[in-house]
Amino acid sequence: KRIITTQTLEEDLKIEYSLRPQTLDEYIGQEKAKKNLKVFIQAAKQRGEALDHVLFYGPPGLGKTTLAGIIAHEMEVNIKVTSGPAIEKPGEMAAILNNLQEGDLLFVDEIHRLNRQVEEVLYPAMEDYAIDILIGKGATARSIRLDLPKFTLVGATTRAGLLTAPLRDRFGVVHHLEFYTVEELQTIVIRSAKVLKVRIDAKGAEEIARRSRGTPRLANRLLKRTRDFAQVKYDGNITEDVARFALDLLDVDRMGLDQIDRTILRTLIEKFSGGPVGLDTLAAAIGEDAGTIEDVYEPYLVQNGFLLRTPRGRMASDLTYSHLGLEHETI
Ligand code: ADP
Repeated sequence: KRIITTQTLEEDLKIEYSLRPQTLDEYIGQEKAKKNLKVFIQAAKQRGEALDHVLFYGPPGLGKTTLAGIIAHEMEVNIKVTSGPAIEKPGEMAAILNNLQEGDLLFVDEIHRLNRQVEEVLYPAMEDYAIDILIGKGATARSIRLDLPKFTLVGATTRAGLLTAPLRDRFGVVHHLEFYTVEELQTIVIRSAKVLKVRIDAKGAEEIARRSRGTPRLANRLLKRTRDFAQVKYDGNITEDVARFALDLLDVDRMGLDQIDRTILRTLIEKFSGGPVGLDTLAAAIGEDAGTIEDVYEPYLVQNGFLLRTPRGRMASDLTYSHLGLEHETI
């Protein structure tokens, strides 16, 4: 199993719950989103209204679910959690909405994966707090409108572009979650270590942070793996040396790149002379799904200058050549 994947693994589920911050003040980083949310939450509470619908988008593991939980906590309302692929029929969505209490927060993960019919139930629900139900068949069919309690929909998706325009337009607040800095991740690692009762020093935490691809989920996972090494091979303390040793064994390099990242870059250089090459062609050469490359791998590689997106396709940068220890092809 790939440990660098930013998708949730079974081992994460056990600890993610305990590591989730409960309040905006405990939530590290994402300063812009936090600042705005603070104001919106305060204003909604003062008016005694439900918060406007919120959409979070960005790569997996950056804290979208966590933020939804925090909003519910700060608004002092209940949260119901579901996901796009889990709801197959319009009736199921109608039932979920109908069971909400006044002010409740409905979190829909992977909201871009709702099918069209289910999505259409959300339009009047989000706009007018109502659902239209069709009664009868054929010529005698008529639709009746059912009022819903005022609720807040929080949607999460890996890319805002995957949403249909009518759905996207119904969110009053839209936030892009950014990759975290090494300093922010270091703070998260130190906080998580406290919760997990792991002894770690600042350098050890920094080393883990540096190799976590800007992603808290990965930082927490690498912390847990490193703890195992520290316990079995050392005296239980995570220092820089221990972290280096463990992470090298786990095949996460100094820039946080794993085998798949390096395969993508290496293929780009060796099979396509560094590009430009189309995403689909590159994906086929690696045997990965193009969507996964685009949503999960590419954002980090692009942000850190390993991969260049050009109108003619993906290209390797100078940094990529030097990081992989490869020479530019001379023509
Ligand atoms: P997403 O929903 O974007 O995939 P999650 O909200 O599930 O990501 O976050 C994954 C894990 O990372 C959570 O267990 C949480 O503990 C941790 N995490 C995410 N963001 C933060 C943050 N800003 N501060 C501290 N921990 C965080």
